[in-house]
Amino acid sequence: MEKGIRIADLFGTESGFVGKKVVVQGWVRTKRDSKAGISFIELNDGSCLRSLQVIAGLERPEYAEVLPKITTGSSLLVEGELTSSPGKGQSVELQADRIQLYGWADPAVYPLQKKRHSFEFLRQIAHLRPRTNTLGAAARVRNRMSFGLHRFFQERGFHYINTPIITASDCEGAGEIFRVTTLDPAQPPADGNPYESDFFARPAFLTVSGQLQAEIYALALGLVYTFGPTFRAENSNTSRHLAEFWMVEPEMAFYDLEDNLRLAQDCIKEMARIMLNECAEDLEFFARFIEPEVRSRLETVAESPFEIVPYTDAVDILKKSGEKFAFPVEWGGDLQAEHERYLTEKVFKRPVGLINFPRSLKPFYMRVNDDEKTVAAMDILVPGTGEIIGGSQREERLDVLLEQMKIKGISPDDYKWYVELREFGSVPHSGFGLGLERLVQFVTGIPNIREVIPFPRTPGHAEF
Ligand code: ATP
Ligand code: MN
Repeated sequence: MEKGIRIADLFGTESGFVGKKVVVQGWVRTKRDSKAGISFIELNDGSCLRSLQVIAGLERPEYAEVLPKITTGSSLLVEGELTSSPGKGQSVELQADRIQLYGWADPAVYPLQKKRHSFEFLRQIAHLRPRTNTLGAAARVRNRMSFGLHRFFQERGFHYINTPIITASDCEGAGEIFRVTTLDPAQPPADGNPYESDFFARPAFLTVSGQLQAEIYALALGLVYTFGPTFRAENSNTSRHLAEFWMVEPEMAFYDLEDNLRLAQDCIKEMARIMLNECAEDLEFFARFIEPEVRSRLETVAESPFEIVPYTDAVDILKKSGEKFAFPVEWGGDLQAEHERYLTEKVFKRPVGLINFPRSLKPFYMRVNDDEKTVAAMDILVPGTGEIIGGSQREERLDVLLEQMKIKGISPDDYKWYVELREFGSVPHSGFGLGLERLVQFVTGIPNIREVIPFPRTPGHAEF
């Protein structure tokens, strides 16, 4: 198979391809025929946002057959000389002297004609939507963020571990958890223990978080992170919740809440810098067509220190704000997206680290503070998105952990191994979870989370 050069490598003055013969391969975005007998073809290969302008003179006899067949969506190989372009907005163009059509796309039915399509429509053609500017750019940024997260943790000596996707612990996701079973719902086992004949001979679930298992490895390797898919059967149709999403979860031995906050802050800042410096072309696109404020938000995050605010203070601020919220604020209640965004966008105008949440609001494993009313939890809120990170210092004291389990109605027998980590060489430790899709939403300004993952799963939707 002939291999072309990726179009991204042809742009830029340093490319050094000007005046040379090159081969490119990609998909036609548009084709325009001039009266002077020249075809202009915009060819995109997904390596970057920009398409390469291909110029083909109709006078060549061998083009007489192929050129009329080239339609939006067709796939081509083009060979020719790369020249610098006089046209506005493009540094180079390709003077074609060989064109090969791989696959035709019938303009009568190919859905991606040159016009703006709604995101709702594009979701129905998830097999074609990555060929659009927005979805292509979102996919490239998502790749950069994933790689950037690995780099961030690897550079700091963290070990990448893999926690199970099928788990037996359901502590966190009560009611929001997917069951894994091979039993036929149409033919349930007659009586007795329904799990006996099931695959694992016990209840099993899709993980809602790799944290508990990551703790095991943090208490052996010191600094670890897990990065994988997580599943929550949240029946909430919001623009920032998916039933299947990806989460990076670092877990650190000998880190207290303050260390945890510092790491989370460094991580978000680094991701903002990656977007500003390494995704400049896609960012420019998002700023122009999706969210005008995305760049200034990124700059704010990259430059300003985060505001650390205790939950109790945040509740006071919100209550005194005079702002009409759809959900009223009370100490002891969960903060909603509207409250989170108000704090980070209106009050502090920078990222906020909310800490020390009511004990009753948070899971059993978070470390109880000396006031005994709150736990050492932290949420990081960013402008535009709201909560992007949730984390905590974990309870390392055996007696307090057992008391917490009792209060929350969790049987220590079900978490024997988790309890034993507090019996054998327990140490203070902390960690957090950063949702990859929320991160991509934040750095691109894409309003709906369904556009930052290739195949979104939400209530009632699991196509493709
Ligand atoms: P929220 O309050 O926004 O529903 P949460 O408090 O349930 O989130 P955590 O359990 O703290 O979330 O999970 C850690 C991170 O995972 C969140 O900060 C967010 O970035 C991401 N996240 C959580 N739930 C979802 C979801 N359903 N879809 C996409 N990302 C999610
Ligand atoms: Mn949270």
